[in-house]
Amino acid sequence: MSILLGCIADDFTGATDLANNLVRNGMRVSQTIGIPKDPLNIELDAVVVALKSRNLEPEEAVTQSLEALEYLLSQGAQQIFFKYCSTFDSTPRGNIGPVTEALMAALGADFTIATPAFPDNGRSVFKGYLFVGDQLLSESGMRDHPLTPMTDANLVRVMQAQCQHQVGLIEYQHILAGADAISSSMDRLKASNKKIAIVDAVTNDDLYRIAPALKDLPLITGGSGIAIGLPANFGLSAHPASSKLPPAGGYQAIVSGSCSQATNLQVESFQNLGGATYSVNPLDLTEKSVEQLVGEVLAWAEPRLLLGPVLVYSSAGPDRVKEVQAQLGVQAAGSSIESLLGLVAKGLVALGVGQLLVAGGETSGACVKALGIDQMQIGQQIDPGVPWCYAEVHDKPLHLALKSGNFGAPDFFTNAFSKL
Ligand code: ADP
Repeated sequence: MSILLGCIADDFTGATDLANNLVRNGMRVSQTIGIPKDPLNIELDAVVVALKSRNLEPEEAVTQSLEALEYLLSQGAQQIFFKYCSTFDSTPRGNIGPVTEALMAALGADFTIATPAFPDNGRSVFKGYLFVGDQLLSESGMRDHPLTPMTDANLVRVMQAQCQHQVGLIEYQHILAGADAISSSMDRLKASNKKIAIVDAVTNDDLYRIAPALKDLPLITGGSGIAIGLPANFGLSAHPASSKLPPAGGYQAIVSGSCSQATNLQVESFQNLGGATYSVNPLDLTEKSVEQLVGEVLAWAEPRLLLGPVLVYSSAGPDRVKEVQAQLGVQAAGSSIESLLGLVAKGLVALGVGQLLVAGGETSGACVKALGIDQMQIGQQIDPGVPWCYAEVHDKPLHLALKSGNFGAPDFFTNAFSKL
């Protein structure tokens, strides 16, 4: 058994988002949590290996990405896709640049592209500047992200700061002119010793125009948007049967550790509709153990699960996040809240939750790990970038949706369950 496309994603929700776009365009896709130990035993067109490497030290992110690469090549992958966030989440040290360059070196690739454009979710790139909806990245909520604040919208500059290779730009007029013009632009950049190109794209049509020009690249990097045109490079096209999941059951719950603007709105909307909510106060961690806090959450949730979906959240606005980080430390706050919410998710499933929404990329990673999930089948899309997924936890069925912070409409927390 041999796959066509091998994908490495730097976080869990990003992996799902990518798998979703590949499924919707006709690929049979499995998402693995971390690097699998065994070879594939089912027919697939693509495998997305979900790492949790976005916020690791660059050296560790590179090591893990190279291990994932080795696995995917051993499964026959003909092309490699490195997926990161459509808001280009990274710091001046990485990890997008270092991982891209390490994968290029391992694959012997002399050129690759980088585009986080994802028009369905309002991410567009023009003249190398990334827009989130109508705002520049640096003026969007991403400027206040707890771990990777993005304060420059110029992706050539952002990527160059993280890379040894020279970074160039393929501008919008070449994208409009089609695949041949895009290939010629790549050749011109290569001739001027630029090995990585940020690529402008504003609409899905742009992404479909770019894709054929990527056919022969050993490595493609970007957000999940650019993936919509890749299945056609392998002769595949959309077919609905690829997203069917088993029937859903059990209680419904939401765990949210995302502090992104979209999530904060979703929490507010769920509260306004009278939903049962439990706000976790991270500063309680200075006085109580994680286990004690998890026990309190589960004791609150148990009787309420019978009545409808419950929401447990640590989500908060930028001022509150800064206050928590000042007291606990940035990394320590992030990782201790993630472990807490992971244990909450595990406890909720033990109480009979069979339909679980998780908000936040890092938070989703922590929840999936706590639940011991190592593989998921990708199903129907809820909102752009977020499909329902299906996994088995100790032989019990679990439907789960892993939502990256800025994804989903304000009514996501209620709407998602009605889609199952
Ligand atoms: P997103 O997808 O929105 O970026 P993530 O889960 O990836 O969400 O990242 C959010 C980070 O913020 C996590 O590390 C999480 O533990 C941390 N966090 C959650 N709640 C708070 C809070 N109230 N204060 C500080 N940090 C928080």
